[in-house]
Amino acid sequence: MGNLFGQLPDIYNKFLPSELLQDIPDESMATCGNCIMVLPEDDQRLGSDFAYFSKETKCCTFYPALPNYLVGGLLCDDDPRNKEGIEKVKQVISGRKGVTPHGIFPPRKYWMLYLKGKNIFGKAGTMRCPYYDAKSGGCSIWKYRAVICSTYFCKHACGIEGRMFWESIQDYLRFVEDILTNYVVMESGWPSETVMEGSIVKYFTRKTEELTLEEIEDIPLPAKKYSALWDNWRGKEEDFYKRAFEMIGRLDREKFKEIAGYANDIHIKLISRRLNDAKNTPIPDILRKNPKLKIYPEGEKKVKIISPGGMFELSKEIFNQLDIFNGKINNGEADKLLQEKYKVKLSKELLTSLYQNRILIKAGQ
Ligand code: SF4
Ligand code: SF4
Repeated sequence: MGNLFGQLPDIYNKFLPSELLQDIPDESMATCGNCIMVLPEDDQRLGSDFAYFSKETKCCTFYPALPNYLVGGLLCDDDPRNKEGIEKVKQVISGRKGVTPHGIFPPRKYWMLYLKGKNIFGKAGTMRCPYYDAKSGGCSIWKYRAVICSTYFCKHACGIEGRMFWESIQDYLRFVEDILTNYVVMESGWPSETVMEGSIVKYFTRKTEELTLEEIEDIPLPAKKYSALWDNWRGKEEDFYKRAFEMIGRLDREKFKEIAGYANDIHIKLISRRLNDAKNTPIPDILRKNPKLKIYPEGEKKVKIISPGGMFELSKEIFNQLDIFNGKINNGEADKLLQEKYKVKLSKELLTSLYQNRILIKAGQ
């Protein structure tokens, strides 16, 4: 187990609350270096609703909004591993699309497609992130990735409870990104209307139906609008982002608390509760096999199942033995029957995992 800071861009270590230093579950089931979700070469099921991802995209069919200070961090970092990412980000900046003092946003046309697309996540090549490094099959801006990318896992060690924990982190980091990018813009002298109007939250909550001509035609903002947006920083966008990184890099925990206010405490309380739920999930006394599982035979001896917790491979034998959990007997009785009938002893860890991934569910549900 590590703590949350090991999972986030380094800049956060200095100022996010120390309550986040608790041990968190190790998400080792999301094997990104050798992506567990990629469809085997000879398998033709990508076009179906089968839950595999394309090897050309993996889960990176998403165009994140990059906060100003993370863009600046990347631009300041001369580690050779960032070379590709810096080039890509510089290219986006020079293209002037979605490039604002708050950060770099996805084109809204993209965002609309993302919201309306069905069964495209992990599959649609046209939705691949512009920061994806096709050569290595990885992320070119990894050290400075934004909230969604640092909190997404296709599988969770603690199943649904683990996912809920990460969702609470995601909500928190969205809040952090929003407040810090606003802080940078406000402290740089822009009027409060501009700060609010350009904020990350505002961007993602604006009605997506209202696309402008430039957005539909995929062309940059007209020079006049772009100049008004950047004011004195027009043409010096990279310098502005670097300055944002320096500003946020100077924060300590005390100053951050002052900026983030009471809302920060509410988020931290929720995160702690969700973490506790993930680590100590109470198992209902009477369980049954989830009747809504999707089951796909994998050869003679295995099955692939898709449960609310994700996609898993199980031995057919064990999967069939789980019929003992029929919603009528308690877990102790089910365990006894398993031992009598199949000479199998179900460990507490396995039972917890089966419940956390909702392969087994509470009787009556
Ligand atoms: S999180 Fe993404 S890259 Fe990592 S294993 Fe899952 S799908 Fe693959
Ligand atoms: S920023 Fe990196 S991790 Fe996030 S979607 Fe793009 S390539 Fe994937």
